[in-house]
Amino acid sequence: MLAIDGLEVVYNRVALVLKGVSLSVARGSVVALLGGNGAGKTTTLRAVSGLLAHERGEVVSGSVSWMGESLVRLSPDRTVKAGVVQVLEGRRVFEHLTVDENLLSGAFTTKSLRQARQATSVVYDYFPRLADRRRQHGGLLSGGEQQMLAIGRALMSEPSLLLLDEPSLGLSPIMVSEIFEIITRLNVDTGLTVLMVEQNAEAALSIAHHGYVLENGRVVLDGTSDELRNNQDVSEFYLGLS
Ligand code: ATP
Repeated sequence: MLAIDGLEVVYNRVALVLKGVSLSVARGSVVALLGGNGAGKTTTLRAVSGLLAHERGEVVSGSVSWMGESLVRLSPDRTVKAGVVQVLEGRRVFEHLTVDENLLSGAFTTKSLRQARQATSVVYDYFPRLADRRRQHGGLLSGGEQQMLAIGRALMSEPSLLLLDEPSLGLSPIMVSEIFEIITRLNVDTGLTVLMVEQNAEAALSIAHHGYVLENGRVVLDGTSDELRNNQDVSEFYLGLS
């Protein structure tokens, strides 16, 4: 499992933004990390994926491990080798590369082009829309298709833990449900573990098994998705559901 215990993170050596976050994600589960702007959700993902250092952030206390291996202070490429991949917020795809080339550029862990091609065909099985557009430039795809491409690119290194940062951001409800259905299929078919940051609590809890709510750098609440959705006060106050 992913175990985060007492995690404290600072940016620029001074600003303490995570103030002792503890959470766990069981292997094979989908977990939603919820909360308002600036709560520390993205920072938590960065602490898992090794991308903190790029942002002048640092773990000052606590531990993060996946399947028993500590991820703290691992470089992002070592973290990918440990099976952990983050899909960045904002669907960062290479606009001037084709869909196919975008996917191949994510093949960090594969040893041969043949193996990489095989990995693309697995991605295309899950994302038929990408298969249809494999020779189109990334920049010509719709927002939802770009999000699919960003997820597909992350899958190319065959992660065991996928970290998603706001996959629903700016997408139509239909596209959100299409993408969330695919995430569920990946979870069910392959046992992929997913930790997903979302502002769209309703959509996230519809596919997650468990959820955590962060506020001001601390976990203020957690429970099964049903527990979180059925608690009226909680869902109105923290999750913006009615
Ligand atoms: P949002 O949905 O707005 O991204 P979030 O819950 O993901 O919110 P974070 O992005 O983790 O929150 O931000 C937590 C705090 O850390 C905020 O106060 C933010 O201003 C600060 N912060 C985030 N990234 C950096 C950075 N690269 N350098 C300095 N401070 C940062």
